[in-house]
Amino acid sequence: MDGRSDSAPGAEGSCWACGAPVGPGDNYCRRCGKGQGSRVPWYYRHWGIILITLLGLGPFSLFYVWRSPLISREGKLAYTALISLATVFVLYELHRIWLMYQALLSGMQGF
Ligand SMILES: [Zn+2]
Repeated sequence: MDGRSDSAPGAEGSCWACGAPVGPGDNYCRRCGKGQGSRVPWYYRHWGIILITLLGLGPFSLFYVWRSPLISREGKLAYTALISLATVFVLYELHRIWLMYQALLSGMQGF
């Protein structure tokens, strides 16, 4: 163990996106052009996924969560649960605001 084992996700001999062989020195897949290891696109990284979730992609960011080569299976399940809960919460709040708005409107028509 020299601590330099190529354990970076996506740099283990085959492309994380298409499965084509990737050499240890290749930063990009020769077949599909996807970045490997540290060159994996930002939207497959933890901070990128949190960013696009918050910026409005909402539950659609799960698409990137499940495609990401950088997030473990446990991490994907955790993201799915968290993003689903957040989505339900936001929908519930929007519904509540909509009901309040309706009540306000009917109240104004009532005199
Ligand atoms: Zn590829």
